[in-house]
Amino acid sequence: MFHVKQPDQGAATASFEDTPLARELADLSSRRRALEKVQVSLPERTRIVTVSNQKGGVGKTTTAVNLAAALASVGARVLVIDLDPQGNASTALGVPHSADIPSVYDVLIDEFPLEDVIQPSPESQNLFCAPSTIHLAGAEIELVSQVAREHRLRGALEGYLDTVAVPPHFVIIDCPPSLGLLTINAFAAADEVLIPIQCEYYALEGLSQLLGSVRMIQKHLNPALHVSTILLTMYDGRTRLAQQVAEEVRTHFSDEVLETVIPRSVRVSEAPSFGQTVIAYDGQSAGAVAYREAAVEIMARGVHAAAGKEGEA
Ligand code: ATP
Ligand code: MG
Repeated sequence: MFHVKQPDQGAATASFEDTPLARELADLSSRRRALEKVQVSLPERTRIVTVSNQKGGVGKTTTAVNLAAALASVGARVLVIDLDPQGNASTALGVPHSADIPSVYDVLIDEFPLEDVIQPSPESQNLFCAPSTIHLAGAEIELVSQVAREHRLRGALEGYLDTVAVPPHFVIIDCPPSLGLLTINAFAAADEVLIPIQCEYYALEGLSQLLGSVRMIQKHLNPALHVSTILLTMYDGRTRLAQQVAEEVRTHFSDEVLETVIPRSVRVSEAPSFGQTVIAYDGQSAGAVAYREAAVEIMARGVHAAAGKEGEA
């Protein structure tokens, strides 16, 4: 009986098509189709990206793991380094990180080779994780008395990249919400900083402190470090506040902000409780599509930057 065409069906369809929900769904399916066709170029050199913001709960871990999974889904080999004692990135990637597991703590404090702690994520053969354990909570204090305390991660990563048979295309570092020694280790090891900004009131508060820290590291520890990417997260386009925050960030950081905006999405927030990223949990959902678009944009920008440098040489 569902096949019987009612006289007013055409009119009803036309009016549904005109609703914001229908427009959103149509938009999402055309974006999915565009993603299926997209061509990406893998970077020739490993890109080391640290996801940092000393503000808590802005989407650092969510961005680190979902971006990593999105990059892996288009063929990039990706290593996520979980530098947060909370271990949320390890959880989301389905990687064991109980106290007895060799972890980033052993790399930073006891100079374990990085490759000895790296585990494959069950989600993708391209995805790997150096997990964090609860021991990392003490590392911030323990590092203070160590030699080359700011360069521990950099040394371990360089050693790994120099010796590993097939180096990753991307290393993504998930930082804790502070500007302590763990985050400084990430800044010293990375080339790029990705700053997630939550589209809410106070979003820009603390940003100048973060940019000041990046400049300090550039000057004293790692001249290659730069803020390459700003990603707007948890965007709710129905609120004027989110639109205003997005506009303000775009005005100040037009070169760094990605076109792609990550929407607030229930799928994104529930994926970690299944030990999955949203790419594996529901790869066609709005949040997953947005992270896949962000990954494509980041890859395309990297290629342009490299091409620009070659042109200058
Ligand atoms: P911390 O500073 O504690 O490390 P964080 O910056 O890593 O936090 P997340 O843990 O990624 O932030 O996110 C904070 C909370 O917001 C989590 O509960 C996460 O599930 C939720 N969240 C993140 N992004 C989204 C999104 N796009 N839609 C809905 N919920 C989200
Ligand atoms: Mg986090």
